[in-house]
Amino acid sequence: MRVPRSKIAFIQDYQQETDMQRQNEEHPVTDPVCGMELSHKSAVDEATYQGKTYYFCAQTCCEAFVADPKKYVRQHRQHGMKPG
Ligand SMILES: [Zn+2]
Repeated sequence: MRVPRSKIAFIQDYQQETDMQRQNEEHPVTDPVCGMELSHKSAVDEATYQGKTYYFCAQTCCEAFVADPKKYVRQHRQHGMKPG
C-alpha cells in the first residue's frame, strides 16, 4: 500500500509544528556535572532523575551523572548554606 501525497504533507506539517514547540520551550539549562550552560538543542545527552530531565554537554557528563545522580543534584535545603 502506498502512502498518498496528502498524508506525507500532513506528516511534514506535524514535524514542523513540533520543531516550533521545541523552539518555544528552549531556555538555557545547566549541565549539572561540569556546570556548563547549554540549550536543549546543543545538549548531547539527557537523563531523567526524580522526574526531572537534565541535559549534558557530553556523553561522559551524562554517564557520570547516571552513575551517581545524588552527587550532582543540589538539594533545596542546602541552598545558600556554605559548607564548613
Ligand atoms: Zn558537561
